[in-house]
Amino acid sequence: MSNFNQILDNHDWDAVKESIYTKTGADVLRALHSSTPDINDFAALISPAASGFLEEMAQIAHTKTIKRFGRTMQMFAPMYLSNECQNICTYCGFSLDNKIARLTLNPKQIKAECETLSAQGFDHILLVTGEANKTVGVAYFKKALKIIRPYFSNISIEVQPLNFEDYKELINEGVSSVLVYQETYNRTAYTEYHPKGKKRNFDYRLETPDRLGQAGIKKIGLGALLGLDDWRTDSFFTALHLDYLEKQYWRSKYSISFPRLRPAEGLIEPKMAMTERDLVQLICAYRIFNEEVELSLSTRESAHFRNHAFKLGITSMSAGSKTNPGGYQVDDKSLEQFETSDERSASQIVELLKTNGYEAVWKDWDAVFDMV
Ligand code: SF4
Repeated sequence: MSNFNQILDNHDWDAVKESIYTKTGADVLRALHSSTPDINDFAALISPAASGFLEEMAQIAHTKTIKRFGRTMQMFAPMYLSNECQNICTYCGFSLDNKIARLTLNPKQIKAECETLSAQGFDHILLVTGEANKTVGVAYFKKALKIIRPYFSNISIEVQPLNFEDYKELINEGVSSVLVYQETYNRTAYTEYHPKGKKRNFDYRLETPDRLGQAGIKKIGLGALLGLDDWRTDSFFTALHLDYLEKQYWRSKYSISFPRLRPAEGLIEPKMAMTERDLVQLICAYRIFNEEVELSLSTRESAHFRNHAFKLGITSMSAGSKTNPGGYQVDDKSLEQFETSDERSASQIVELLKTNGYEAVWKDWDAVFDMV
């Protein structure tokens, strides 16, 4: 069976980068007016040459989004269950070498967090943990899901990459989507950012969406940590990955997130800073390239930015997020993975959407639909 590793190995990082940076205005215009944009058009849309076409890109992205998704926005909240981690990732506050107090929520604490988020109206929850197999492995997830499932009908997870059988089990326990970011598709840089731990294995991580597709997951979330390397080249490979997966596992849906490097304890400086204007360009490029993919914007970005950018192609937003375990109810002092920027509550985001003629969607799917 094929996997994405083979496709990635057929692309040279530097050659791809050069092809993006040498795109011309004519390439951008061709991409903007193509009825079936391909990966080469995507490269034109994220190129420096496209930054002069931002207004036109924004209009096309907005129109395509309204046509496919209407004026709706799915609401979700992350719930951090643990900050224990056996990996050293030089950009993350939870890194093993960071001397912080570690906390893994027990059943009572998980229940308390669920009650708080559920009372705010959330029905879609994203469970997040560090990568500590002994503490937060499949057995822990299964126990936690039994507690969490009665509160939420849509459960996503962002945890350590697992094997095919584990995913099968977790799907049976109610997990509907899995987010697994490659961080960077540059193998050399990846090795530098991940000096220790299981995450060092670039290929195992890269093959994770393949295992998820084979396990029949409902939705797979992709992304790169923007700023670890050249954001344009990493985004090209993310889009290539998306394109491959959609063709290979067409029953699954896909989402893309745009995490930009944000301050966290022990954090490195971004190798290549991505400006807000760059991020707008990238969001529009994804929407023009792919009308079906869900695009997600988190509270890493500022309130001012989110107020404007959500109309360009975004289909899901988090609100009132805490990025530390127990942050909603149990322990607001535990270390957060990264600082959030937009600290508005869920009801404030709903109000923002309403004012702009958008409807907040709390529940768009239920496991019961799969049984029909
Ligand atoms: S990025 Fe993930 S794996 Fe790496 S240190 Fe942070 S929590 Fe652990």
